[in-house]
Amino acid sequence: MMSFEQAKQRILERAPLMPAELVGLHEAAGRILAEPVTARRDQPPQAVSAMDGYAVRASDMKAPQTRLTVTQTIAAGGLPASALQPGQAARIFTGAPLPDGADAILIQELVHGLGQDSITSDAVLEPGRYVRAAGQDFARGQEGIAVNTRLQARHIGLAAAMNYPWLKLRRRPRVALISTGDELVHPGEPLGAGQIISANCSALAALVARHGGEALVLGATPDKKDDLLESLAAASVADVIVTSGGASVGDHDLVGGILRDHGLAVDFWKIAMRPGKPLIFGDYNQRLFLGLPGNPVSALMGGLMFLVPLLARMLAQDDPTDAWQPRRLASPLPANDERLEFLRARLLDDGRVEAFNRQDSAMSRVLAQADGLIRRPVHAPAWQSGTTVDYLDINPLL
Ligand code: AMP
Ligand code: MG
Repeated sequence: MMSFEQAKQRILERAPLMPAELVGLHEAAGRILAEPVTARRDQPPQAVSAMDGYAVRASDMKAPQTRLTVTQTIAAGGLPASALQPGQAARIFTGAPLPDGADAILIQELVHGLGQDSITSDAVLEPGRYVRAAGQDFARGQEGIAVNTRLQARHIGLAAAMNYPWLKLRRRPRVALISTGDELVHPGEPLGAGQIISANCSALAALVARHGGEALVLGATPDKKDDLLESLAAASVADVIVTSGGASVGDHDLVGGILRDHGLAVDFWKIAMRPGKPLIFGDYNQRLFLGLPGNPVSALMGGLMFLVPLLARMLAQDDPTDAWQPRRLASPLPANDERLEFLRARLLDDGRVEAFNRQDSAMSRVLAQADGLIRRPVHAPAWQSGTTVDYLDINPLL
């Protein structure tokens, strides 16, 4: 059986980098930038006042009791009527351009004498006081946002200021989701005897969306060859096809069996991992194909451990499942066998971690209650309480 690490490596090696598409700025938050954003203008476009007050010549403001003649008023969006001569001041407001000759702002709080057309102040000013120089925030051609940045509100604001109404972003990977099983109906549909609800498509769709992809939910397919092939045909627009169920070797397990005769080129099948051993990876119709086991916990763990890193790689992002941290065990664990194991665990108030007693891969409630995962290496010996283990917080991931 292939090791977990080797399987993951094989999948990541096949990840295509997503091409760019143009997206309106208001749709861009959370998406990945496909080329750097460089300023298309200078900000501010010329020297402007940082405060409400008076534009002055600093050379006029070297001693107390300076009296200046106010010759004009300039507001943001306006332009100076004339240059400032020695002995003159211009009433000015935040964001307004300085007139030629002015090199400092006397804030209005420092004006004590206010005449008809004159002001008096005791302030002594250096050149540049409360002046925002042209291009101080950014100058045309300067890089504002690096390629492959995941865009947050602050990046959107900067891109807007740099005069981008749209951005080139990496296209979201399209992930087709198919669940297989005669026993499955969708949430809310009438349930016949022996039927259960298909949970995997809903969970995987949320996982895909959370990690930057676009899920195409193709629903539950009966365990019949023709139905499965029909769903797969509908999946041909996807970048990645993900199935759940039917991946083991039972009589009704179609994915690994029948699909091999109908176009699935298998790269590997079955990995030394728990939960999620019967995992299939390969190519179907020139699309990446990931066949996950049907048990809800196995399906989601396979999605987390393989699909999430794959989506990250397709979007040129770091692998978010690499954030293992050392934690102390609160209760002992027995020795492990030849399969790498991910145990659903809770994080205690004192910072220690404890595996749930029930690790059955059909127990989706335990996964929903877990805080994180404990990783038990292949053939790990028994661990006592207090042993330091690798722990992964699943809250930001799952
Ligand atoms: P399979 O991999 O098809 O052998 O399925 C393993 C177990 O997972 C069986 O008990 C299935 O009923 C269950 N199962 C398969 N697919 C789903 C699904 N989409 N949602 C919930 N349970 C599933
Ligand atoms: Mg099945």
